Amino acid sequence: MRPEILYPLFAEPQSLEGVGPKTAAGLEKLGARSVGDMLGILPMNGVDRQLSADATQTVNGAVATLELRVMRHRNPMRPGVPWRVETLDAAGNPVILVFFRPNPQHLQSQLPVGETRLVSGKREDFDGTPQIIHPDHILPPGSPKLPAFEPIYPTAGGLAPRTIATAVHKALDHAPDLPEWLDAPLKAREGWPGWLEAQKAVHQPQSRADLDPMSPARRRLAYDEIYSHQLALALMRAHMKAKRRGRPNAGDGSLRAKIWAALPFGPTGAQKRALAEIEADMASDHRMLRLLQGDVGAGKTLVALMAMLIAVEAGGQAALMAPTEILARQHAERLAPLAAAAGLRLELLTGRDKGKARTKLLEDLASGAAHLLVGTHALFQGEVGFKDLRLAVVDEQHRFGVNQRMELASKGAGADILTMTATPIPRSLALMSHGDMDFSVLDEKPPGRKPIATRLISLARYDEVTDALGRALAAGRRAYWICPLVEESLASDLPAAESRRRALAGLFGEAQVGMVHGRMSGAEKDEAMAKFQRGETRILVATTVVEVGVDVSEASVMVIEQAERFGLAQLHQLRGRVGRGAEASACLLLYQPGALTGTAKARLEALRDSEDGFFIAEMDLKLRGAGDLLGVKQAGLPAFRYADSEIHGDLLNIARDDARLTLLRHPDLNSVDGESLRILLHLMRRDEAVRYLSSA
Ligand code: ADP
Ligand code: MG
Repeated sequence: MRPEILYPLFAEPQSLEGVGPKTAAGLEKLGARSVGDMLGILPMNGVDRQLSADATQTVNGAVATLELRVMRHRNPMRPGVPWRVETLDAAGNPVILVFFRPNPQHLQSQLPVGETRLVSGKREDFDGTPQIIHPDHILPPGSPKLPAFEPIYPTAGGLAPRTIATAVHKALDHAPDLPEWLDAPLKAREGWPGWLEAQKAVHQPQSRADLDPMSPARRRLAYDEIYSHQLALALMRAHMKAKRRGRPNAGDGSLRAKIWAALPFGPTGAQKRALAEIEADMASDHRMLRLLQGDVGAGKTLVALMAMLIAVEAGGQAALMAPTEILARQHAERLAPLAAAAGLRLELLTGRDKGKARTKLLEDLASGAAHLLVGTHALFQGEVGFKDLRLAVVDEQHRFGVNQRMELASKGAGADILTMTATPIPRSLALMSHGDMDFSVLDEKPPGRKPIATRLISLARYDEVTDALGRALAAGRRAYWICPLVEESLASDLPAAESRRRALAGLFGEAQVGMVHGRMSGAEKDEAMAKFQRGETRILVATTVVEVGVDVSEASVMVIEQAERFGLAQLHQLRGRVGRGAEASACLLLYQPGALTGTAKARLEALRDSEDGFFIAEMDLKLRGAGDLLGVKQAGLPAFRYADSEIHGDLLNIARDDARLTLLRHPDLNSVDGESLRILLHLMRRDEAVRYLSSA
């Protein structure tokens, strides 16, 4: 075991020469917190900087790289006229270098008259003479600093591509030559290079072909990543299985029958299927770890309730955990009457409950007098003890990290776990990231839903939007108005929301307009929501806190400002807040004038044209590519840096089998060859690695 070899990869970016706090902060925004992470920032593109001897042979408008002899500097003497440097190429053709407002001294020392320099930049034409305006590079002839093919890194985290390039190349200089951990036959069959060699091919590409995600180097690194993730999942699964000598939780169906009798409708086909899967899982002596996926409004909550009833029928208790207080409260309000219909007590527990009532509630949970509990994460704090918790349901699981998933699994020893998400995950991605779970899918909505008319409108037409809003209000409807997402910090979304609230209050009257935002206390938020629910306010201005689950069936208009800045999945969720009642609903996606170009437009159009969350998720992934770390993060998935679930799908199957084999060979986690394990861990996100190590 020589983990030391990995230390350079775990080193902080700032330990690299030339990487200061500012660059490190930018890298952090890209999710790169170590030298190893930095290697996962891949070039998006490349520029051919092959040296040309003859400027007249270079292509107008393309990058040209030339060795130029400096003949003279022409100082413009007049403002507005650029500084020109006259040069000759190796074949003796004139080439003019153009600079606007240069520092003359600096320029003259960079390009001394009589000397030759290696110059590269976009070649243009001026009266038949080739010219380069502000060259990208001016270097001594033969400088090794200018590769024949220059990789171009993304602009991100407020860093220029060149800054990222320099930092990543520094990281590459410090990358160790890791011992091989792939099976020799696989490596030979695929013709893959070693790890370091692959890193070099990716970051020092020789040609465009090296940038291809299908290149051997890229596939190798993708495989490393997928395999390490699969291995971690396999280990986690084995770990859970070992711990889940489960109790069979079988019920006689009596409580469920009472609820169905109390409801004016029967289950959809999809609900029936999901419930059958859950029932079988719970009845077995394995511990259930199941993800219930269903589009907004597909009826997940009811499935969850039925599953909870199975736990009670089996003689135990069940808990439902929601990501926010608003949601926990809403679930409790909606479910309590149903629970009562079955003769059960359903209680609500949030972080806000204090004092006597809380003490009493805790007693009732411990004695088993309370059968069902709904709450926020407060539900799993140390002091909350159940008499016999048999099922834990986690709503909107993507809001809880992988960490909480593990934590939850370790609480309530042996309790079955059902997690629910309304953010459909494309199947390929789901397998790659949630290999430790089983899936049920609600791919059918309850009958009678009206389509939501979705329109894209420029914010320049704000007046038309507020006119339409006025008409909707006059007709007795209610509306959400979602304010722009603010990237930098959650706190700073307030000013935009507040000024929008004031503007709308100016038009429709103070009393009509309520607001919820992230800096309000739980009680304040609930109060604002409740007023909107009761119809005391008719427009609810909100930052994205209303995003999940909140249900106000009279709300039938959803306005989303700067929709182009939201993730598609999130927009779909937000839109799902309307269309819950009998009325026809509308969703207006407002974009900044001029902001709707290319992909942004395609994304919003996909949303406009479909209400199928699975389709939208697939589109989102396609349009964004798996390279978009932020987007992947938004969906709560681990960020893959090298692997793309669409492009490298074939590797997933190999990796899953390999991971299983590895585990068969090393049934005891701790005996997996330490070095391989650590290499695998460095390939994962660091926090995942830490969590994994502490759980293993
Ligand atoms: P989700 O949590 O999946 O977004 P909900 O569970 O909140 O969806 O259900 C949305 C609405 O559909 C609720 O008002 C619920 O009562 C209703 N509903 C659920 N299942 C059915 C069904 N089988 N038939 C008719 N309506 C249903
Ligand atoms: Mg729900």
